[in-house]
Amino acid sequence: MSYQRQGTVPADLANESVNRNSDFTKAHPSIKGASISIVPGRKCLGCGWQYDREQTMCPDCGSTSFRDFEENELVSIPLRSQTAHLRRKVEYCWNIKVDPISEDVVRHTLEIVDVPTVNGGNQEFHVEHRCKVCAACYGRSEGRTATPDELLQLEAGKISAPSPKSRMMGTGGAP
Ligand SMILES: [Zn+2]
Ligand SMILES: [Zn+2]
Repeated sequence: MSYQRQGTVPADLANESVNRNSDFTKAHPSIKGASISIVPGRKCLGCGWQYDREQTMCPDCGSTSFRDFEENELVSIPLRSQTAHLRRKVEYCWNIKVDPISEDVVRHTLEIVDVPTVNGGNQEFHVEHRCKVCAACYGRSEGRTATPDELLQLEAGKISAPSPKSRMMGTGGAP
């Protein structure tokens, strides 16, 4: 999953390739080092990574500064080596808050915890992967029919109900 980025900083220091997301840009056919957008998207002003406009924070470095581009525009993208220092090993939760007056971005580091859940409606069991701090849900796995015992635990409040849609992160419904 996209939020599980590997700690590749040392390798990146020697990586002389463009920090390209090939879903969004391609190399210019004649100008060396230049890139052309193939679909509308968003460029990180920190590390240059290109990403979806649905997202408000760079999935590569955590920066919230970006510039939007349309299809078929010239986009300048730095090298991986030039931006290696920006890709911290620390991940931040997507659930950020922006102060309405100072416009300061308040964010917290992301530590994923696995939480068993049971849906009392369709009686399905899932393991949800949630932020330990704010319980934002980053995905679920191990879906199956809940056992009678688990349904009893749900009634007794000993097992969680699934996260509402508003707490699902990184699935296209991100803030
Ligand atoms: Zn970035
Ligand atoms: Zn969080």
